Amino acid sequence: MNSGVKAIRTPRDLAINGAPPAFAEPIHVGRPNIGDRAAFLRRVETIVDSHWLTNHGPTVGEFEQAIAAYLGVRHCIAMCNGTIALEIAIRALGLHGEVIVPSWTFVATAHALYWQGITPVFADIDPQTHNLDPDAVRRMITPRTTGIIGVHLWGRSAPIEPLQAIADEHGLKLLFDAAHAFGSTHNGRRIGSFGTCEVLSFHATKAFNSMEGGAVVTDDDELAEATRLMRNFGFKGYDNVIHPGTNGKMIEVCAAMGLANLGSFESVVASNRRNHAAYVEALAGIRDISVMAYDPAESNSHHYIVLEIGDAFPATRDELAAALQAENILVRKYFWPGCHGMQPYRDLFPHARLMLPHTIDIASRVVVLPNGTTLADDAIAAIAAVCRVLAGA
Ligand SMILES: *Cc1c(COP(=O)(O)O)cnc(C)c1O
Repeated sequence: MNSGVKAIRTPRDLAINGAPPAFAEPIHVGRPNIGDRAAFLRRVETIVDSHWLTNHGPTVGEFEQAIAAYLGVRHCIAMCNGTIALEIAIRALGLHGEVIVPSWTFVATAHALYWQGITPVFADIDPQTHNLDPDAVRRMITPRTTGIIGVHLWGRSAPIEPLQAIADEHGLKLLFDAAHAFGSTHNGRRIGSFGTCEVLSFHATKAFNSMEGGAVVTDDDELAEATRLMRNFGFKGYDNVIHPGTNGKMIEVCAAMGLANLGSFESVVASNRRNHAAYVEALAGIRDISVMAYDPAESNSHHYIVLEIGDAFPATRDELAAALQAENILVRKYFWPGCHGMQPYRDLFPHARLMLPHTIDIASRVVVLPNGTTLADDAIAAIAAVCRVLAGA
């Protein structure tokens, strides 16, 4: 890049001088981390040689055992992606009517319900943690409510105990969307065995990936059995369908990528942690912007670099995002405007925003910055330089 603060242009300058962006190639949020390439390719050779590409092959079996052992949970039922894993978990738990979810989450959390004729009801978040506010959850309970889906946003645990207490008090099912939380802990215990079950995503953009993939993880033997059936059309053995089901199976090559990446996960976390610390240092002292911190007492993949723009920062979040994008640094507004503002929920709940003041505020302040093992060394400095220019500092 052209180094130095003066080389950084705002979109306004760009319009004036048409200068090229700081980076010739775009820098993406969620660029996939690829672990031990040789280990992956060796496994792919074995898979191709065996002609066993899918349907409960040995690689998926090994992957499931490795994940269950890593998380300290009895069952890992691997799936083709996290959304199908959510849908199957929701169905296996018998949820119906209304289920309470945050609006400040990836839209798949809500869609997995709606797709099955269940109404997602959006509860507000705690602006400090970005996670569900238990009091807001209480306010959204109706006679039709059957469950709560907590999301461990940014890999930081949802308020697990308060949500469990609400679920117990009202006879609701509680599960967690743990798509952000692979490798995270809550009070030192790995995310994965809280609630009745938890759902993981191993999508390419997550800290830990199997290209596409997901899983239901649980200590509940019956639920595990039900999700295994549903993942495979309800087949129990050959020629014997005993339940409605779908095709949620993970393929062998995805499991191979998962196993290769599991071996490299600690080094991905180490690299993310260094980048996070470098961001905190580079952005320190700029007026009213902050990088979300991770609790040093808990494990977290440090995958999400969440920048929050305060009122005293002279530019809006959208102006900052546009200035960075103009330099080919493709930052993301993530869940903006919140699920309640997306279709079909915008039409379904035209007044949802009245119950979601913190969600709306946070959605207007957050921008997620690039991270991962391949983040260019000078990207963090360039991002900080753009922030300084907009801060007028
Ligand atoms: C990624 C993600 C999902 C969906 O997982 P896929 O594997 O992409 O289907 C669900 N919920 C959250 C919070 C996510 O970030």
